[in-house]
Amino acid sequence: MMRHVLCALLLAGVSASGLAAAPDLHGRWMQGGLIRGQTEPGAQVWFNGKPLRVSPAGDFAFGLAYEEGPAAELRVRLPDGSEQRHEYAVERREYDEQRISGLPQKMVTPPEAALKQIALDNQRVAAARARDSAHADFAGGFDWPLSATVSGVFGSRRILNGEPRQPHFGIDLAAPKGTAIKAPAGGVVSLARDDLYYTGGTIILDHGQGVSTTYLHLSRLNVKPGQRVEGGQTIGLVGATGRATGPHLCWRANWFDTRLDPSLIVDGKPVSKGERRP
Ligand SMILES: [Zn+2]
Repeated sequence: MMRHVLCALLLAGVSASGLAAAPDLHGRWMQGGLIRGQTEPGAQVWFNGKPLRVSPAGDFAFGLAYEEGPAAELRVRLPDGSEQRHEYAVERREYDEQRISGLPQKMVTPPEAALKQIALDNQRVAAARARDSAHADFAGGFDWPLSATVSGVFGSRRILNGEPRQPHFGIDLAAPKGTAIKAPAGGVVSLARDDLYYTGGTIILDHGQGVSTTYLHLSRLNVKPGQRVEGGQTIGLVGATGRATGPHLCWRANWFDTRLDPSLIVDGKPVSKGERRP
């Protein structure tokens, strides 16, 4: 009962006396957001009941899903055994609806012969996203991978030739073929392949603790799996490989299999179509 009262106080933004301060958090409590936190070294942290990895320096991270909320819970147990529980309101989003008609049927339904490759691609991508690495490159924040006009936003509900599909979980950045793509933060290359069925030249960077970013349709890959990259390093070039209608970078971000909005991670606010970033 007491626990419940404390929780309600915290949700209202009132700090109760005798409680340790909430951990230091960066990021927006919005669907698709990434929260980066810092607590005392040696503390344990749970997000919605899931234990998180905490770096030796006290860094941790977690993502807010596409349809997260309306509230989320963070629990911290400090090395002295004291426990804090905080509840946060998650901002709800209105996602665009994108109707595309008149697409060649092969772009909407893959041919039988491609199904095996698609299944293998999905396995490889899932394995890269599942990595729970000890490094904490996410802790320093993220930059845009290139300068471009936004041509597609996170979360658009897609209706292709009249059939509802998985929402678009990337940000499309319209840039000419051959534009350099820079790592938005340090990390380790967890996938680099030039032959994925839908996404063509594809790179996934592991920024630690399940935080990853993905780069699709590249015309060239400059990195290899297992390679360490620093923020600002060119990892590949923009292209239109795979099933793309023209040259652009489809940029994605994940916390494990939770889809995140890259613009929230960089800017703290969602971008709009036609906007130039950065
Ligand atoms: Zn895209």
